Amino acid sequence: MKYDAILVRFGELFLKGKNRRQFIDRLFQTVRTKLTGFKGMELQLKYDHILILLHGVDEQAVLKQLDFVFGIHSYALGKICESTMESICEAALPVAIEACADGKAIKFETRRGWKEFPHGSIQVSQQVAEYVGGHAPEGSILFNVAKPDLAIRILIKPKNTLVVSREVPASGGLPIGLNGRSLLMLSGGLDSPVAGYLMMKRGLQVEGLHFESPPYTTAKARQKVYDLAEKMAHFLPRGKFRLHLVPFTKLQKEIFAHVPDSYGMTIMRRMMYRVSAGVAERNSIRLLSNGENLGQVASQTPDSMWAINAVTEMPIIRPVACMDKDEITNIAKKIDTFEISIRPHEDCCTVFVPKSPATAPKKGKCELFEKAFDWEPLVQECVENTEIIDIIAGEPIALDGDTTDEICSLL
Ligand code: ATP
Ligand code: MG
Repeated sequence: MKYDAILVRFGELFLKGKNRRQFIDRLFQTVRTKLTGFKGMELQLKYDHILILLHGVDEQAVLKQLDFVFGIHSYALGKICESTMESICEAALPVAIEACADGKAIKFETRRGWKEFPHGSIQVSQQVAEYVGGHAPEGSILFNVAKPDLAIRILIKPKNTLVVSREVPASGGLPIGLNGRSLLMLSGGLDSPVAGYLMMKRGLQVEGLHFESPPYTTAKARQKVYDLAEKMAHFLPRGKFRLHLVPFTKLQKEIFAHVPDSYGMTIMRRMMYRVSAGVAERNSIRLLSNGENLGQVASQTPDSMWAINAVTEMPIIRPVACMDKDEITNIAKKIDTFEISIRPHEDCCTVFVPKSPATAPKKGKCELFEKAFDWEPLVQECVENTEIIDIIAGEPIALDGDTTDEICSLL
């Protein structure tokens, strides 16, 4: 069956009180932007939903785009017809046949948004059921009014009536753009893109920050981050993901030249936090986020987090902190970052990783070891020399030049 319309229901927007209007407008704009490529389609903003009149456009292609928009609770697919009893019956017939196709029992539910319609709601449901029962092929329709598997809704409006059945759950969350921005520490791994997705789902405009240590990290490692950024860009209203690339080699070399091996990783991460906070501040971003996961590695024990986090007062959100690896993996597959994240190329953390990092580092010791070298100007240099690249959804950048994957060892 060819659908005529998609009814887009809002998500948590109703919780937002007086901000509701703003959120709905933002959501509507985002939906419109995401669907600009489809010609001939019509969008109508209603009090509690958006109505998309497809005019022949393929609904699956539209749903695929809408999956990138946060703030949508669900979609209902349906047929649109004139607001007459005869047209409603005719429109309901194929919808009902399809709804029952896999043995599901249905019922009709009518809502009259147009009070002048000459029949009452219950009467409409009954008459439509009677028509469908009489016109559908023998045995193709199963009714169960008390306990249906699926309710087919008939929404009567003055201009036209919508007959909708299949409810498809949508992305949920809040529309991006009204909740501020966050700078995401984006490695090439599995966790940080998922963390970024979850931040965007809460309505934040996310920008990525990646530390790289050329020539110890290769062009392939950068390529990975570009590709992850491209996947994340699809979720942003304008399809543009800003990436801040931090040249980390000089600072990292100094750390490993002056700090005992067991504290190298802790101090390196303290420096990463300092640089991240510096880049965030420079760009008026008030919130950091990352893919840290409790207990995953030495740097993510409570003692370690305490020693590392002490260098900044900036709030840091860790959306995947309490998730299991398979929960994270499932999201990574859903957002299409999994295959990129599992590519083998090393990033700056893995290249320099010490053999036995401290799992319970002391803050005092960190401060002491940091006195061994003049790190402040090096942090400043990292912040100032950060390169900005905007990655556009649907326009992946392929790096050429030196794409060798040989890692030079520093240790
Ligand atoms: P991920 O955690 O994304 O799978 P990972 O396991 O390689 O990557 P960890 O060592 O667990 O990284 O680091 C924890 C977090 O620190 C990452 O999720 C990321 O937010 C941040 N991080 C690590 N390396 C980098 C990097 N090179 N650039 C930016 N952020 C990084
Ligand atoms: Mg990790």
